[in-house]
Amino acid sequence: MIADNLLHIKSSLSPHVTLVAVSKTKPVADLMQAYNAGQRIFGENKIQEMAEKWEQMPKDIQWHMIGHVQTNKVKYMAPFVSLVHGVDSLKLLAEINKQAKKNGRVIDCLLQMHIAEEETKFGMDEQELNMLLQSDEFKQMQNVRVTGLMGMATFTDDEEQIRKEFTYLATIFKHLGQQPETLNLKPRTLSMGMSGDYHIAIECGSNMVRIGSSIFGHRAP
Ligand SMILES: *Cc1c(COP(=O)(O)O)cnc(C)c1O
Repeated sequence: MIADNLLHIKSSLSPHVTLVAVSKTKPVADLMQAYNAGQRIFGENKIQEMAEKWEQMPKDIQWHMIGHVQTNKVKYMAPFVSLVHGVDSLKLLAEINKQAKKNGRVIDCLLQMHIAEEETKFGMDEQELNMLLQSDEFKQMQNVRVTGLMGMATFTDDEEQIRKEFTYLATIFKHLGQQPETLNLKPRTLSMGMSGDYHIAIECGSNMVRIGSSIFGHRAP
């Protein structure tokens, strides 16, 4: 089932859209089914769970942290994480930079933007984004690279609402792409879209979708 779901979704995506298989709460055996069907990018939202799976699974997997990151846990993922989607403050970025340096790495990060109506979803607004990027502290960071933006739409059946939010994020991404690139600012990736809304997200310009339940089935609450 997992392999079928994965291949079905993959075949429907155009080649410029990267699929992150969101495997949070699922056992390694389930992830291995996706791995054996060719999937190499997995997304997790808890650092400890991701680190345990990383230890047990083949080393050619790229691990994406898609959840909210607590500063004090960055050190556990710094040796291996390949992309951090949920960076929403300079303070967090500074900690990732520090831990990446300790590991002799440069860690790619997406800045998370708040686009939904819900108060509870994390992320920055456009002004906070620009303040972060223009800060001297960011400009001096050598062990992180901002490679794009991530956002989550409101959880709603209202397609127009979702479309409006994704379009807004795509506009911010476009503005970001018009800024001069630097060593640590190379925007390429717009991570938006989950099982319920990835078709809309891609229409609005997403080139990375994070899909969990449509591949692995529903998660226990
Ligand atoms: C869980 C999660 C997903 C995947 O959700 P599905 O609806 O199962 O596809 C995507 N992005 C984030 C940030 C998540 O936490």
